[in-house]
Amino acid sequence: MTLTHLKIQELLDGDRAHECDDDSRVCVRIASIAELPTRFGDFHIVAFYNNKDDKEHAAIVKGDVTDGEDIPMRLHSECLTGDALGSLRCDCRDQLEAALTAIGKMEKGIVLYLRQEGRGIGFTNKIRAYGLQDYGLDTVEANLALGFRDDERDYEVAAHMLKSLKVKSIQLMTNNPKKIADLTRYGVNISGRIPHVLPPNPHNEFYLRTKAAKSGHLIDFSGKEHLLEQIDRPIVKGMTAEQIKALYE
Ligand SMILES: [Zn+2]
Ligand SMILES: [Zn+2]
Repeated sequence: MTLTHLKIQELLDGDRAHECDDDSRVCVRIASIAELPTRFGDFHIVAFYNNKDDKEHAAIVKGDVTDGEDIPMRLHSECLTGDALGSLRCDCRDQLEAALTAIGKMEKGIVLYLRQEGRGIGFTNKIRAYGLQDYGLDTVEANLALGFRDDERDYEVAAHMLKSLKVKSIQLMTNNPKKIADLTRYGVNISGRIPHVLPPNPHNEFYLRTKAAKSGHLIDFSGKEHLLEQIDRPIVKGMTAEQIKALYE
């Protein structure tokens, strides 16, 4: 069952005057909802207002998730170069497409799309980090800036977005069981975990050939350091247990 016009109106009306009383916290509010047919299936797109950083966060919603339990949910951070341009320096697009493809086939599900390029360091700083890499400089620093940042606020915003959508419990699509604790801390009720496994393709084949990715450092076939920009380390179908373990060390 999809979100009806009545349900959409209820969500919008209910959120119009919403404000969290504790003003130190991140507060979001549903600003607008529309149908979004995509190549991955028919979704609704939800635009959120938030009081902290003027970022226009989004939820891509399949089916009527209000009052829903065990709703499959994926958390994705915006990556212009990967998501929109198909960059091979990261796996963001593969991760996003895999999530949308999976949820598009389900009755209900949500992708929370956080508008924070480069894991929150911003687009310009991300391109600076790429540029440094091109000159062989500061690769570790670039990686630290992009790959290993774990912003508490991501989880706080995500938790509030789920609350705004009146979702009762989720099944988190993640490869990292630790993320369950991170979201739980902000009041998200997580009833299960769904492993997020990417289909192998010529672009991510190096994951299958790399013996061990130490500290998330991976060199792709073109010799470029491959950055892990999403919260989650990617698992490509066919990776060995050792390879998966190495990604999380
Ligand atoms: Zn609030
Ligand atoms: Zn990316």
